[in-house]
Amino acid sequence: MPIKPSGKKDLARLIKPRVRKLKAYGIDETPCRIKLDAMENPFALPDNIQKELSGAVKRALINRYPDPSAKKLKLAISGLWGIKPETMMLGNGSDELIQTIVLAFGGPVLVPSPSFAMYGITAKALSQDVATVPLSRDFSLDAAALLKKARAIKARVIFLACPNNPTGNRFADEALLQILDRADAAVVIDEAYFSFSGKTCLPLLKRYPNMIILRTLSKIGLAGLRIGALIASPGIIGELNKIRLPYNINTLSQAAGVVTLKHPDVLNRQISLLISERNKLYNALSLMRGITPYPSETNFILFRSRTDATIIYNELKRAGILIKNLNKTGVLINCLRVTVGSQHENREFISVLKKLL
Ligand code: PMP
Repeated sequence: MPIKPSGKKDLARLIKPRVRKLKAYGIDETPCRIKLDAMENPFALPDNIQKELSGAVKRALINRYPDPSAKKLKLAISGLWGIKPETMMLGNGSDELIQTIVLAFGGPVLVPSPSFAMYGITAKALSQDVATVPLSRDFSLDAAALLKKARAIKARVIFLACPNNPTGNRFADEALLQILDRADAAVVIDEAYFSFSGKTCLPLLKRYPNMIILRTLSKIGLAGLRIGALIASPGIIGELNKIRLPYNINTLSQAAGVVTLKHPDVLNRQISLLISERNKLYNALSLMRGITPYPSETNFILFRSRTDATIIYNELKRAGILIKNLNKTGVLINCLRVTVGSQHENREFISVLKKLL
């Protein structure tokens, strides 16, 4: 019997209007030769670590649920960053931890603009109000304006990516301290790019119980494992653990994370190389007519073109090079973001870009 569609049974009409209004986080999945769009580390792991990984996968008991508190992985991360395990909670990427924070604290959520899109998307998906405070023209943070807005809307969470995505700069310590001192909200300092800036708010945790720090293993070479870390007072960790899904870090990610973090020297060497490549890329972009790069303390560079950035983006894509198009009206008009790749990838990017200008 043929099944007739019925207007009444259109399930989408039952989805919350706030969710129906959302736009999904846009990821361009065009296959490309050189992928410089998502702040991934371009280097594969050396053979000896790959071998250890295969052994760990073989031994993994995937018929069992994972260790719910990912004890071994937590210890490995503690060792890497000098963080006490009782002040840490792990997530399926820091994306999940952003969600956990908004679930626990609720809104309104306050974010500078431009900043990492997932803060707003997550808050809206959880039916929370989101307010923004514009960054200054040089992408610095006006702490007084942010605090004023936080008071006016009674913000419960403030997200500060530090260094900021997509601008690449780190906000001034004085601005951060002013906000931590005065805001009556959870102040989340997202240190996703910490390894490339070398600067952290971690030592301030004792002084500011209203602070939560986020870190991730994604930018330092383990994006495929989806491992993020939240660092806060043990009391806050206890509260957040109540709403964490019990087995949020899968067995293979836990095992692979433990193996890889036994080799911090390999990761650190890659980070140093990327920092030196970032500086070379910045210099090369500065020398191009019609291009203005912005200083970066991350593994990417935001740059503005004098001509239509979308044309440049599409031409690069046609040449097999994928970067991120941020070209919108407002502060990011004609802006593009390129992730720092290997020496060969960066050279090719620069050479193709030169030909396009
Ligand atoms: N925070 C910031 C500032 C980011 O730029 C990103 C990734 N683009 C994330 C968090 C998410 O990282 P993860 O892979 O750990 O979910």
